[in-house]
Amino acid sequence: MADEKSFDLVVLGAGPGGYVAAIRAAQLGFKTACIEKEPALGGTCLRIGCIPSKALLDSSELFEQIRHKAKDHGIQVAEPSVDVPALHKRKDGVVKGLTDGVAYLFKKNKIEWIRGFGRMTSPDTIEVTAEGGEKTTVRAKNIVLAPGSVPVELPFLKFDHERIIDSTGALSIPEVPGHLVVVGGGVIGLELGSVWLRLGAKVTVLEAMPTILPGMDGEVVKAADRILRKQGFDIRTGQRVAGAERKGDKVIVSIEGQEPIEADYLLVSVGRRAYTEGMGFEEQGIRLERGIIQVDGRYHTGVGNVYAIGDAIGGRMLAHKAEEEGVAAVEFAAGKHGHVNYDAVANVVYTWPEIASVGSTEEELKAAGTEYRVGKFPFSANGRAKAMAEQDGFVKVLADPRTDRVLGLHILGPRASDMIAEGALAVEFQGSAEDIGRSVHAHPTLPEAVKEAALAVLGRAIHI
Ligand code: FAD
Ligand code: NAD
Repeated sequence: MADEKSFDLVVLGAGPGGYVAAIRAAQLGFKTACIEKEPALGGTCLRIGCIPSKALLDSSELFEQIRHKAKDHGIQVAEPSVDVPALHKRKDGVVKGLTDGVAYLFKKNKIEWIRGFGRMTSPDTIEVTAEGGEKTTVRAKNIVLAPGSVPVELPFLKFDHERIIDSTGALSIPEVPGHLVVVGGGVIGLELGSVWLRLGAKVTVLEAMPTILPGMDGEVVKAADRILRKQGFDIRTGQRVAGAERKGDKVIVSIEGQEPIEADYLLVSVGRRAYTEGMGFEEQGIRLERGIIQVDGRYHTGVGNVYAIGDAIGGRMLAHKAEEEGVAAVEFAAGKHGHVNYDAVANVVYTWPEIASVGSTEEELKAAGTEYRVGKFPFSANGRAKAMAEQDGFVKVLADPRTDRVLGLHILGPRASDMIAEGALAVEFQGSAEDIGRSVHAHPTLPEAVKEAALAVLGRAIHI
């Protein structure tokens, strides 16, 4: 007979959206459970996304520093080499530390983890099937759906998970590939491409659109493209990949109107899609459009007390966006007011230099007919960047010409990921370029370039 359990609030999925929602629910006094099918908590982000990719990016960047940049600092090192299994072991340790950390937070907040695959059987019931087939009926006064997303598979480039791989496969390639071909010059292609390029692979990126990173600020993308090519990326835009065929350990990639390319591994990173099938959502009256759960401004699905958040509800597929939605949805469930300011959700690409942005791009402002002023400042004129020998890139601030309000902030440069928080705050507080320009920034630091770009909007940057 199926086991039965009841809670005030149950979250389906323990990714950054789901686990954060569960913790916020426990803080608000809900008796809370979280259903997760995988053997560790943390979802795509902690297990097979943000965290392992950044662990590999940091390791490979250190290798790059030692190999190519140490000599700029007057440091001589013998030719270093990479121990790929050790690299993966370190990455796995980082992941374990963080997923165990979520389990600890669940214990601390008295959140029950119900392990298994959840399927809604009524608007207040989820049936959970454990790996061994045992079933638990979970009843909940409130439900938050956070099942996340999975990689898009192209019908003509089916994953074999050996040589034709998705991002999960690219996080654990057992050796440095001779030639890694990447389909999709988006964030995953460039981040995981960077990892293997730095470790010694030849990396070819085949992008369908006229530029890599479509949708990001055009000027920033153009500069990033130039730098990435200088690093060794073979970037080919406007490509129509027609198929791929395994020949032993090789993959032959065919492209319309061109010679086929031989690869050791083919990473297909052409986007992710909401993962919502087989969970009984539509049967319970929850509306899906192309698999994406439809919600209102309170993250409510329109059915019972069922809310939904994160990658599964569409919008930008980012961990911090999912987290904020998790908090907001639970606050609405508690009769409070949740709030996510989507204009202030920063976007980061962890190449080196990093690319980070918040607010509108120049292209978006032009398309909307919004007037704007631009202020720019290059890292080549920033003292700290010079000291670090990291002078590529610039900061660009877009501001309203009448009110001076910051409309967008774009950074191509070292540790842009850390600096963009200042832009997110400016957008959140509806700050002006002058607010940033008049704030005292410690010297010598990289964020001084943000201050100078803000001053440049007003035509009074000091150091250029
Ligand atoms: P997920 O993290 O996908 O979690 C959903 C969870 O629900 C999963 O654990 C899944 O097993 C579980 N689940 C689903 N259905 C069921 C079910 N029926 N029963 C039980 N459990 C279920 N974002 C960033 O912001 N920064 C980054 O640097 C970044 N890097 C990334 C790198 C890679 C390689 C990838 C693939 C993604 C990256 N992302 C990054 C995106 C980020 O991982 C996602 O936006 C984020 O994880 C979405 O959170 P979520 O909670 O909505 O869903
Ligand atoms: P993406 O949307 O960033 O990039 C996909 C790229 O593939 C696009 O440039 C697109 O034009 C291209 N493309 C699509 N079809 C193609 C085809 N047939 N041939 C060639 N190119 C094609 O998607 P992704 O890189 O797979 O990443 C998925 C999502 O995961 C991201 O959108 C992002 O939300 C999230 N993510 C975020 C981070 C981060 O925040 N640093 C890192 C990794 C992933």
